[in-house]
Amino acid sequence: MNGIAEIMNRNFAHAALWLLGLLPAVVAWMALPPGSFSGAAASLNSAGRLTGIGGLGLFLLAAMASVRIPGFDRHFGGLTKLWQTHHSMGAVAFLLLLCHPLLLALASAGISPAAAVAVLFPPAAGTAVWLGWGALLSMMVFLAPSFAFFGPPKYQRWKKIHRLAAISAVLALAHTLWLERTIPEPWSSLIWLGLAAATIGALVYGLVFGRRASQYPYTVAEVARPANNVVELSLNPLGKPLRYEAGQFVYLSHYDGKLPGGYGEEHPYTLSSSPAELQVRIAIKDLGDASRAIQEIHRGSKVRLVGPYGAFFPPTNSDAELWIAGGIGITPFLGRARDLASRAERVDINMIYCVQDEARALFADELRQLKARIPGFCLTVHYFYRDGPLATDFVRYHCPDCSGRQVYVCGPGPLLKLAREVVLGAGVRRSNFHSEEFNLL
Ligand SMILES: Cc1cc2nc3c(=O)[nH]c(=O)nc-3n(C[C@H](O)[C@H](O)[C@H](O)COP(=O)(O)OP(=O)(O)OC[C@H]3O[C@@H](n4cnc5c(N)ncnc54)[C@H](O)[C@@H]3O)c2cc1C
Repeated sequence: MNGIAEIMNRNFAHAALWLLGLLPAVVAWMALPPGSFSGAAASLNSAGRLTGIGGLGLFLLAAMASVRIPGFDRHFGGLTKLWQTHHSMGAVAFLLLLCHPLLLALASAGISPAAAVAVLFPPAAGTAVWLGWGALLSMMVFLAPSFAFFGPPKYQRWKKIHRLAAISAVLALAHTLWLERTIPEPWSSLIWLGLAAATIGALVYGLVFGRRASQYPYTVAEVARPANNVVELSLNPLGKPLRYEAGQFVYLSHYDGKLPGGYGEEHPYTLSSSPAELQVRIAIKDLGDASRAIQEIHRGSKVRLVGPYGAFFPPTNSDAELWIAGGIGITPFLGRARDLASRAERVDINMIYCVQDEARALFADELRQLKARIPGFCLTVHYFYRDGPLATDFVRYHCPDCSGRQVYVCGPGPLLKLAREVVLGAGVRRSNFHSEEFNLL
């Protein structure tokens, strides 16, 4: 029941963000004079106005949804889910804003082609319209790398360019406040200035106060090497220790000038330790420049953690769970299993750990030992070279009552997709399927 209530709250929180973003468009719709949709030209003109207003409203809310405030993201099912909404809102806003000038130009095309061109490219007097074009064109430049069409971008460069979209928001707001006459005054100014103030407030709070209150200096106490491309760091606090729940993640920055890359860069990593431990543990696989550099980190190096974020597991144990892990996606489950072992409570958890072969079964020996200490915890290791791709029959055989369980999956993208198909095929309800993606783009 707790799980259902939490999912409903989370869906409500996401729906509220969308509704707030669409609020200006709804008010504008209600304020349209009678006859605004009678005839092609009037309909195109009204649609043009509504897409502009709706696009800007969603754009500002998408900016608000990008703010990282530890604890706040839990209402949305974790930061990864909140940022998925940020991403979808940004994409819809972008499409609506692209349609906005085209629809307005099409509405004037009925008068004459010259009138349509004058809407798109007004003479020098049309400063407000040029501000709109500035917003749209800069948005194309700053947001284009986010779309998969252009291939995977370099994350750090992408982040810097992406943040410049704030310039587009300022230009779009100036354009709207100058020109927008669909929503009557004082509502128009109240709505736009209110949304702008809320967005700036959220961004400043997240960047300055939220981050300051949630950053923790640590030092590397030990570096374990569970595989040749993975390290597990044990960290000691240099001040107030981080408080977190099993399976949550932090942003880690290292300050070791001797490492070949990633100095001061923030990267998200799941905490693989139990919250009951004095030390914080983080397992890092070499997946790019910064994570490769960290493989060489030494004892005594300083790191900074910001967080915690995420809500992969519910705050209380569900009745019965099925865990499916793959590769470095083992980390949230490792943290939770270590936590359960420290509490020795009875659970009903069936875990399937998908690995390529024995050599890549990270922490498998430790998980077998933990199994002996957690009553009600079952572990099956699925070897790809022996068992082939994960299949419904395999899951049903090792977890016959899987259809009634809450399912948690973490691993590489293709495994998440496959596991979803497999467990839904085995009768698991969609609302009982929970996944954590190690990719925030
Ligand atoms: C919620 C979450 C939990 C994670 N937990 C772990 C873990 O426990 N262990 C582990 O080894 N890896 C984990 N990762 C993945 C880890 O963050 C990336 O491997 C790491 O950031 C790669 O950085 P890089 O510079 O080495 O590689 P790059 O080549 O720069 O990046 C490779 C890919 O990693 C992602 N990425 C890079 N930097 C960031 C960033 N600052 N924010 C978000 N995504 C980024 C992007 O998708 C990028 O395309 C997690 C990721 C997320 C989102």
